[in-house]
Amino acid sequence: MTPILQVKNVDAFYGPIQALRNVSLEVNEGEIVSLIGANGAGKSTLLMSIFGQPRVRQGSIHFAGEDITQVASHQIAKRGLAQVPEGRHIFPAMTVEENLLMGTVPVGLAHVDADRDAMFTLFPRLKERCNQRAGTMSGGEQQMLAIARALMGRPRMILLDEPSLGLAPKVIATVFDALKHIAASGKTIFLVEQNANQALALAHRAYVLVNGSVRMQGSGAELLANPEVRQAYLGGH
Ligand code: ATP
Repeated sequence: MTPILQVKNVDAFYGPIQALRNVSLEVNEGEIVSLIGANGAGKSTLLMSIFGQPRVRQGSIHFAGEDITQVASHQIAKRGLAQVPEGRHIFPAMTVEENLLMGTVPVGLAHVDADRDAMFTLFPRLKERCNQRAGTMSGGEQQMLAIARALMGRPRMILLDEPSLGLAPKVIATVFDALKHIAASGKTIFLVEQNANQALALAHRAYVLVNGSVRMQGSGAELLANPEVRQAYLGGH
């Protein structure tokens, strides 16, 4: 099987600082793959590099069989890869409904009504709040909106940067449950998380990033049981 996303031998820098060192990883269609690592390990940099900022200095990135290493970010979105960045980046002055409409930019309006209804089924809270300004919603609601907005662009794959950040355990469970539903509907998910426990429990496979390099990989269950992972990322329990 050809992976839908293939990152090969990638190096990335911020000026003189090397943030990624020879990173290689693969995500197959329909998989949930998590990337875990400590603060500053390079997780966000990897997600941003896939979207071309910063551009990788070495190595290549392929999506759906095409080389996207040098492709512009908006073109990548049109090819069916969507990003839910850290901090959510919803439009705070717009309503929930208007934010969802903005998500259709890569694909146009042909399916907007059906897709919005599907999002309201996935996240009933968004339906209740459809006329509320997004900036006034709770962190969890904003995260749900960010995911729903990305899905309005009908991507084949979504990349999420720390969706659990700052959320209460119950809200994290709601968001991760939605990710399971999204994967079951045929979308591919690549998730970057500091919350190793939840991210490994959700993932089919996972990678551990340490100082910009991939240190370990395996099934979510294998890594959850791995003593080194437990010691470093799961509080040693
Ligand atoms: P966190 O979980 O804290 O977000 P992370 O694993 O996502 O961490 P990155 O944000 O990718 O880590 O950072 C990787 C390294 O690159 C860090 O040493 C960080 O200080 C550095 N870095 C990130 N962004 C920049 C930037 N814009 N300019 C310079 N250095 C940066």
